Amino acid sequence: MTSTQARHTRRAVLQAAVDAGARCASGVSGDPDLFFRADREPIGEWQARRAEAIRLCTGCPVRAACEELALRDGDGRASQDDMVRAGLTGPELAAVRTAHAVRLAAATAADRDTEQRELNDLVTQVQHEATSTLDRTVEGERIPPSRVQAEQNVLISLLTARIRELRSARRARNGWEVAA
Ligand code: SF4
Repeated sequence: MTSTQARHTRRAVLQAAVDAGARCASGVSGDPDLFFRADREPIGEWQARRAEAIRLCTGCPVRAACEELALRDGDGRASQDDMVRAGLTGPELAAVRTAHAVRLAAATAADRDTEQRELNDLVTQVQHEATSTLDRTVEGERIPPSRVQAEQNVLISLLTARIRELRSARRARNGWEVAA
């Protein structure tokens, strides 16, 4: 993804902010599992860990971005107290998502529009690269066609990998397996 596309993709910007500043990923917590209740974990133990996770999130510099991502991702269930994200429990996240359902639906639709534009741009770039001439010069000097071809192949392979990644994510969101 180019920097211009990233600027126009709200979700990508949020994810980058969380990746860069997440307190839970910086080693401060020391335990990523702190944020999830284990299978059959006694409620008393989970409540103590949950309180610790919420305390950690309270001082996290990317908490707002983390909450927006969690809501966009559909994290949290009203009936399941088994996680903490952005300082909110699963039921709290579900309640916020319900309260902001219309705004979130619009935001998610905007993400997908941007993603579709990126897909279209990538396909166009692949077609352009695949059909462009191998006859190139730089500052009056002819580049050997074999080198141009090799560079084109690398670029096409990077572009098609990104296309596959976007299409797989879209299929998964629509209920298909990645390989479908
Ligand atoms: S708000 Fe909490 S869950 Fe989110 S990135 Fe920060 S520490 Fe992690």
